Amino acid sequence: MPTTVAVVGSTGSIGTQTLDVVRADPDRFRVVALGASTSVDLLAEQANEWKPEVVALADPGRARELEALVPAGTRVIAGPEALPAISTGADVVVNGVVGFAGLPVTLAALGAGRRLALANKESLIAGGPVVRRARETPGAEIIPIDSEHGALHQCLRGGRQEEVRRLLLTASGGPFRGRSAAELATVTVDDALAHPTWAMGPKITVDSSTLMNKGLEVIEAHELFGTPYDFIEVVVHPQSIVHSMVEFTDGSVLAQLSMPDMRLPIGYALAYPHRIGSPFGHIDWTTLSRLDFQPPDLVGFPCLGLAYAAGRAGGSAPACLNAANEVAVAAFLAGAVSWTAIAAIVEDVLAAHESVPLTDVDVVIDVDSRARRAAGQMVEKRNRAA
Ligand code: MG
Repeated sequence: MPTTVAVVGSTGSIGTQTLDVVRADPDRFRVVALGASTSVDLLAEQANEWKPEVVALADPGRARELEALVPAGTRVIAGPEALPAISTGADVVVNGVVGFAGLPVTLAALGAGRRLALANKESLIAGGPVVRRARETPGAEIIPIDSEHGALHQCLRGGRQEEVRRLLLTASGGPFRGRSAAELATVTVDDALAHPTWAMGPKITVDSSTLMNKGLEVIEAHELFGTPYDFIEVVVHPQSIVHSMVEFTDGSVLAQLSMPDMRLPIGYALAYPHRIGSPFGHIDWTTLSRLDFQPPDLVGFPCLGLAYAAGRAGGSAPACLNAANEVAVAAFLAGAVSWTAIAAIVEDVLAAHESVPLTDVDVVIDVDSRARRAAGQMVEKRNRAA
């Protein structure tokens, strides 16, 4: 029996690469549901290739248009509840939605006792305690689709939890590694979108340039593996070949290596505890000449320290950090604020935030919207001052 897969966010970078993995191993997996926010044409094209039972569109205004394009036998559902609605019925639910909007998908999949193949780290970071409770549903589990956490998940199979000394998260350092404060003050959107080793969506690419992505990944590692923050370290590794490492109590370090290719962690998350038969990210050892490592620059890239601080503060602080960052990154991409303003806005919103316990999803949504409003006001203030 093939493993059934729901791909939520199927038209984005993670979604299309998930379908590549399935295409390479068609006997092992069957796509039963596809969902996207607004990309009707690509969603319809995918529906015609995979003939899923159901396709979901978050934008209700274009449901009619989509219905006319999908094959007979594929149901169309649309509206704000559509993506979580298709996240309960498959063996594996891939959450490739961008940003906080992925939270309902995460909660729906875990609440239905499914395996969640999670690329949407924001839901885990913002909804920490709420997601933790949903993970206790019998059958529910998270296998990360993030190259670093997929690597950690693999390395952690090499020992017992009490034998782990620390997690070493690698970071490429992004396009601005090694730049001075003066150089960083004038970088453009195009500069930030030119990632040296990974091709990804715009939001995560900007997060990589500020090191906020690594900061979010520190919180993600804490949530996924329960490791205290003092035992999660970031190591800059410009080649993006060592995807992360685990140091054990006897001094042994296990690392996972491959060329940067998201289809490897996607295939791992879909097939775990087995391994798929198609290699992605294969290393040619005759041309790989060196692997470099260095400490991160916490002064030029303050977002990493802000994320550690929010993670350590706990409660609603990570949700606030995430929301402020999403607003600041969107403003940067729209040309409204500078690159250095991203960290400044996040810092100011966090400083004014009073942490509350995240008792349920409504509290998470409330914290998120308040932090978004505060960040939006700071964007406006900066515009007026400029
Ligand atoms: Mg990553």
